[in-house]
Amino acid sequence: MMEAVRIMKVENRVALVTGSGQGIGKAIAFALANEGASIAVNDIPFNKDKAGETVAELRALGVKAELFLADVSKEDQVDAMVASVIEQFGKVDILVNNAGINKDGLVHKANLDNWNAVVAVNLTGPMLCTKAVLPSMRANGYGRIVNMSSLTARVGVFGTGYYASTKAGLIGLTKVTAVENVSKGITVNALAPGYINTDMMLKYPKEQLDALIATIPMKRFADPKEIADAALFLASDASAYITGAVLDINGGSFI
Ligand code: NAD
Repeated sequence: MMEAVRIMKVENRVALVTGSGQGIGKAIAFALANEGASIAVNDIPFNKDKAGETVAELRALGVKAELFLADVSKEDQVDAMVASVIEQFGKVDILVNNAGINKDGLVHKANLDNWNAVVAVNLTGPMLCTKAVLPSMRANGYGRIVNMSSLTARVGVFGTGYYASTKAGLIGLTKVTAVENVSKGITVNALAPGYINTDMMLKYPKEQLDALIATIPMKRFADPKEIADAALFLASDASAYITGAVLDINGGSFI
């Protein structure tokens, strides 16, 4: 008989979610935990208090969760983190490359330090984390990698030159990693969300936020939980035949 419903279960899976001390990463950690995954919470030492709170809140729900402080842009820290996750959890089934930073700037006035900082976290970081988890995922014959791209990779948004370039690069990394690992039971996909209610957006003046909201067909920013549900889908067995895909989540069509 045909199976009608594929439930987005991630029972007994181990998920490493980068930048999960707050915002979308934290929401993704909870979405995965609610469906049965154990969670390796990653964030930078600067954000260790919030990351510790994420771990404590997950544990209060009975979830196995551990904290791994590491800067995703540093190869030695990433390698040590992934080795430690595998040592403590026995494996890593799901990697969510969520950690990211944003610095605005016009291309004709580009500041190389700002460019390098954004590239390091948003593009080098996911590459290093992906490289670090792949040997174990390939050996286990199973893996789910979800990369957090952005609307800015898909349409030109004024002032986002550094950020948009990294998020577009991440789509390239997603597609190539998908093709290279498709024979090993590993799927690699990207989310390209529009605007979401987190610290990253809420630092902008209200008039600027209102102007952005006016461009969204649903006339509101997304809640982090709404992005987390999409990440859960791509991290689950329900997405077994979906790889190299980019899911645009913009409250309506932009492209
Ligand atoms: P946020 O600033 O609230 O959270 C980002 C998290 O990443 C923080 O916990 C931060 O400490 C962590 N982080 C930063 N640098 C790190 C590093 N080097 N190593 C490890 N962790 C690091 O932002 P958010 O809105 O939750 O963003 C999460 C992801 O979603 C980012 O990749 C962002 O680019 C993307 N995104 C956000 C929006 C939005 O509107 N908020 C839209 C599209 C995509």
